[in-house]
Amino acid sequence: MIYDFVVIGGGIIGMSTAMQLQQAYPGRSVLVLEKESGPARHQTGHNSGVIHAGVYYKPGSLKARFCKEGNIATRQFCEQHDIKYDQCGKLLVATNAVELERMQALVGRCAENGIEIEVLDAEQLKAREPNISGVGAIFVPSTGIVSYTEISARMGELVQANGGEVRFNTEVQKLEEFADRVTVFTNEGRVQGRYLVACAGLHADRIVRMMGLEPDFKIIPFRGEYFLLDAQHNQIVNHLIYPIPDPELPFLGVHLTRMIDGTVTVGPNAVIAFAREGYGKFDISLKDCFEMFSYPGMLKVLMRNFKISLVELKNSLCKRGYLKLVQKYCPSLTLDDLKPYPAGIRAQAVAKDGSLVDDFLFFNTQRALAVCNAPSPAATSAIPIGGYIVEQVKGLVESAEADDAAQVVA
Ligand SMILES: Cc1cc2nc3c(=O)[nH]c(=O)nc-3n(C[C@H](O)[C@H](O)[C@H](O)COP(=O)(O)OP(=O)(O)OC[C@H]3O[C@@H](n4cnc5c(N)ncnc54)[C@H](O)[C@@H]3O)c2cc1C
Repeated sequence: MIYDFVVIGGGIIGMSTAMQLQQAYPGRSVLVLEKESGPARHQTGHNSGVIHAGVYYKPGSLKARFCKEGNIATRQFCEQHDIKYDQCGKLLVATNAVELERMQALVGRCAENGIEIEVLDAEQLKAREPNISGVGAIFVPSTGIVSYTEISARMGELVQANGGEVRFNTEVQKLEEFADRVTVFTNEGRVQGRYLVACAGLHADRIVRMMGLEPDFKIIPFRGEYFLLDAQHNQIVNHLIYPIPDPELPFLGVHLTRMIDGTVTVGPNAVIAFAREGYGKFDISLKDCFEMFSYPGMLKVLMRNFKISLVELKNSLCKRGYLKLVQKYCPSLTLDDLKPYPAGIRAQAVAKDGSLVDDFLFFNTQRALAVCNAPSPAATSAIPIGGYIVEQVKGLVESAEADDAAQVVA
């Protein structure tokens, strides 16, 4: 059998894409291949669960557009499928004069991105959040929380209910592309697809290489470590509390996150991981390390961010340092309040010049398309990203059909 569409990856992007391919091409066959024994076992199942509003992203970027659309689409999907979410809103808290100035820049960015906000002074902040200290804040009402694992699982169920197949424990090891199909070699044998979409997260660059392309980026894994607050603090905040980010390092800054299960986490930080899928602090994969440290872009990343990398590493090894980050805006927390919590690992594409690829990135051949960079807010954006992929695939289908028609005429 030749499947019409084969999708690699059972994270939220793969599931969203498979679901929307079925909607765009009713009656055509869709197969999802996932190497783990269930959906969302990597980034999608190890994140903060925030439905972002789209505050930080460069106006006009895919991130800015898809995050804003995804915020609405995610909530709609939850309502349609009876998945619990909470539009609890978020506060970006300034704790000093420098942050207050940076906060003003963010107010401007929200206006450019069309995000509704409210600016609060210190008193208004205290009234909303008695346990949080700051000199001012931005309130973002559309931010929410959800379980992306639950959303991905539901999307997978929908794919199956609509006649699609989801095969777990099936690892893609090799790809061969022909004029009319792609052969996919897995640990469970070979499958054929007329078109292939790869949503492989932490292995995106490896899949691009299997597609016969030489990627001009590498996936560098960054651990995001969390702590869980002691249960007595489950009501410590009413909203999500974020620091005002340094514009040079916008993805840094640990936040206090209310989770959809009623608990509260602190995190994540960002430290280089020595294994793409090693969730233990000291997990090392020699293969991953060799690939990472022999990549010229990696040394440049380290050199560019040397000081901040050391600070992040220090705070990763020293709980007291980590605590100080959150005590800046939540002074009542103590070391004993921070309990262990599983880490997540971000798949970040890094260019050869050492720059972090900022926007979502896709590569394609005639029969295949790969998602190459889908860091946060890609879980929030998964529905519009899936829609975008379907539009790109339609382009591949049309040009393949035009080629076939031309050959028949000839
Ligand atoms: C610490 C952390 C916090 C985050 N917080 C948020 C947040 O609050 N809100 C938000 O919007 N985003 C957040 N993100 C980002 C978000 O989680 C990711 O952008 C999103 O989950 C990416 O989804 P994905 O499907 O591309 O990747 P993944 O979820 O990693 O899925 C990729 C899948 O592909 C499979 N795969 C890979 N290679 C193969 C192969 N060869 N064969 C078969 N299967 C394969 C993997 O097993 C995996 O299941 C966070 C990420 C992290 C790490």
